[in-house]
Amino acid sequence: MTQPMLSIKGLQVAYGGIQAVKNVDMDVQQGELVTLIGSNGAGKTTTLKAVTGMIPMKAGDVTYRGKSIKGVPSWELLAQGLVMVPEGRGVFARMTIVENLQMGAYLRNDKDGIAADIEKMFAIFPRLKERAAQLAGTMSGGEQQMLAMARALMSQPKLLILDEPTMGLSPVMTEKIFEVINQVSSEGMTIVLVEQNAKLALKAADRGYVMGSGNIIMSGKASDMLNDPSVQAAYLGE
Ligand code: ATP
Repeated sequence: MTQPMLSIKGLQVAYGGIQAVKNVDMDVQQGELVTLIGSNGAGKTTTLKAVTGMIPMKAGDVTYRGKSIKGVPSWELLAQGLVMVPEGRGVFARMTIVENLQMGAYLRNDKDGIAADIEKMFAIFPRLKERAAQLAGTMSGGEQQMLAMARALMSQPKLLILDEPTMGLSPVMTEKIFEVINQVSSEGMTIVLVEQNAKLALKAADRGYVMGSGNIIMSGKASDMLNDPSVQAAYLGE
């Protein structure tokens, strides 16, 4: 097997005395779509935050493209193509939609490419085009969620980490977000997806990991997990 693009080994994270992540091992190969599912409070978001330098690791290590990124701040990871779209909003509220998209591309200097990508985002998310001059902070939660994802894509990530990208979205918008995830995945982007809708996530993913109270309790091919009766009973509402 080739060297994974992202490798998490023995990760532990604590908030004060509370050990939110006890022991996480996870590998993501280049071009894969890997989903991390599990019950509320299992430690999924905490794992992603530790990987992307938003909170410190207590123990363990994470390598990205072969190098340790322990202690590397988020902005530096962004420059290396590792981009996280956090849970909830995370857009620049006092900037317009189009300014937010431009901010996503601030490390690029291919002016024509940036303009073309903004048009591409408008084609994917027509709502953003209709509201291009609106301040992001005045958009609905779902619209901000779309904008956060579009802004991340503007940076041309090598590894895109999505934390609950469909949270609070209508079924139609959820479907739309998954279309976009499937599209960028088929174009070769490597993606890590934390998602409360485990069924949709496993349908889209190559492989899955299940997290339960701070540990990885199961992993495998996403198609196998979809057909696994214990996964179905616990996470797929079947
Ligand atoms: P969900 O699916 O509900 O978003 P999750 O799997 O993403 O859950 P985390 O958000 O990582 O779970 O939370 C893991 C545990 O850490 C929870 O018990 C949570 O209460 C706790 N926790 C998260 N953030 C903090 C914090 N800033 N301070 C203290 N405890 C925290």
